[in-house]
Amino acid sequence: MRVCLALFTIFVAAYCRKVFTGDQVLRINAKSEEQIQLLKELENTEVSELDFWTHPVSSDLPVDIHVPYASLYAVRKFLQDKEIPFHVMIEDLQELLDKEQEDLQRSAMRGGDAKSFDYAAYHQLETIYSWMDSMVAGHPNLISKVHIGSSYENRPMYVLKFSTGGSNRPAIWVDAGIHSREWISTASAVWMANKLATDFGVDPSVTALLGQMDIYLMVVTNPDGYAYTHTNDRMWRKTRAVNPGSLCRGVDPNRNWDAGFGGPGASKNPCSDSYHGPSAHSAIEVNNIVNLIRNHGNFKSFISIHAYSQLLMYPYGYICTDIPDQAELHSVGQRAVQALSSLYGTSYKVGSICKIIYQASGGSIDWSYNVGIKYSFAFELRDTGRYGFLLPANQIIPTANETWLALKYVMEYARDHPY
Ligand SMILES: [Zn+2]
Repeated sequence: MRVCLALFTIFVAAYCRKVFTGDQVLRINAKSEEQIQLLKELENTEVSELDFWTHPVSSDLPVDIHVPYASLYAVRKFLQDKEIPFHVMIEDLQELLDKEQEDLQRSAMRGGDAKSFDYAAYHQLETIYSWMDSMVAGHPNLISKVHIGSSYENRPMYVLKFSTGGSNRPAIWVDAGIHSREWISTASAVWMANKLATDFGVDPSVTALLGQMDIYLMVVTNPDGYAYTHTNDRMWRKTRAVNPGSLCRGVDPNRNWDAGFGGPGASKNPCSDSYHGPSAHSAIEVNNIVNLIRNHGNFKSFISIHAYSQLLMYPYGYICTDIPDQAELHSVGQRAVQALSSLYGTSYKVGSICKIIYQASGGSIDWSYNVGIKYSFAFELRDTGRYGFLLPANQIIPTANETWLALKYVMEYARDHPY
């Protein structure tokens, strides 16, 4: 269902935002491998318009499905007939979205100036971009804004570079929001940028880190998708690229990297949320990052921030065999999540993508690892499904704060273990 408001001015602009009234998110706890198979079949019925927030993998992991109101009766009946246990996680998706919009509008009044900016709120792309300028203006000797190219819809793509000088110092890459509906990822990265800026020169460990390494932080990695989640469809995950020969738009930018491209865990169907695109690095957003990383040549760590599930993962996703550095990355990951948990007791699992969630090909950290960036990790931030992608804004600062401790651990480890 869409609510459309046509504004007839000199140009006709149509403004349509998808509404989710009566849609529910169901949490399913399959009891057996047979029930997992049934859920996989359900996922592959393209006509159903079901939005799998987490995927059927094994009976150890719950499956969360966003079910449109029109499909609720059929899905519930299917689950009951097959005796698959489930409960309602979110009663009415639109109610949560309305609350989110109210909060967002209120905080938008404070604008993008770094001094008045509301870090405890989600923001539109324009506000984040003006906040970036304000951050650079306020910390000219530490932060610069690097324009790495444009998105499919021609929005500029910016990286905040934290550097105290030197030439081509060893560097750390951190990206957030490659999947646009994972708002907590971008909001956490924004908070962490401010944390780096305010702690530099005050906190000895941040000061020491930036004395030796540069940090490249991309807070909105998929700007077209992010803008679209604000204007049209809060549940949008992919880019907004037109797919020739299909009415469906968008490529999953985390299935598009040249690492097992087109293999298991990615779809060749342009209508799928995990569509891998026509070829590796075909998504311009991915290609822009690949060019920056390759031209730089001295990245020591590559960290990608997603949501949700509370996981810290290392390669590989495209195959389930252990990487050569498995033992080291596992122990770095475990110590990082120990640091994270020390703040509020939030619990995280650590493992390879393939073993901890599912086989997924064409992912960014598999690519970065294969091009020689050993300390490659991906986070799945809060929560474990109560709110899923709609994490309330009052959890932004706690989430960012605890994640920062894990991130700092990985960064310092990378600095102290040159290779
Ligand atoms: Zn993601």
